[in-house]
Amino acid sequence: MGFRGVCFDKDNTLTEPYKDDVYEPYKKSIDLCLEVFGRDKVAIISNSAGSSDDTDFKKAQQIESSLGMHVIRHGTKKPDGIDQVSAHFNTTPDRLIMVGDRYLTDILFGNLYGMLTIFTKPITSNGDNPMVKLIRNKEHQFVQYSKQFYQPPLQPLFKPGIYFKK
Ligand SMILES: [Mg+2]
Repeated sequence: MGFRGVCFDKDNTLTEPYKDDVYEPYKKSIDLCLEVFGRDKVAIISNSAGSSDDTDFKKAQQIESSLGMHVIRHGTKKPDGIDQVSAHFNTTPDRLIMVGDRYLTDILFGNLYGMLTIFTKPITSNGDNPMVKLIRNKEHQFVQYSKQFYQPPLQPLFKPGIYFKK
């Protein structure tokens, strides 16, 4: 389709919340993704590892060695951090994909800058940040309500229906 890279959120997208290993049932798919697209085309942008919460980016280094994926250091929180993402992939955001489990962080971040966004169901509520647990339902309700009035943004490179044949 012309996309140049994929950004994954970490917590509750690739790993259980605040864990350092890929969620076991996803391991084969993630390995295949890295093999097919190449490690330089896949990275993590997280609001824990590599963010303003990650002193000296120690968590980012730890995640990189356990997951084998680059963690983008942004020193902020999504929806900030787009400059570091563009710099990492050396392209504009409209040629990137954002995959994540939160509307208010991952999906808002991607849509703000014209990325193709892919919303995933969270892996588990076990160990999730209590505030996130509280907000998640509200985000979901708000998005469902908003669907009456708004359409998701169109992503110029994405042509639904063409690429997903049975
Ligand atoms: Mg998450």
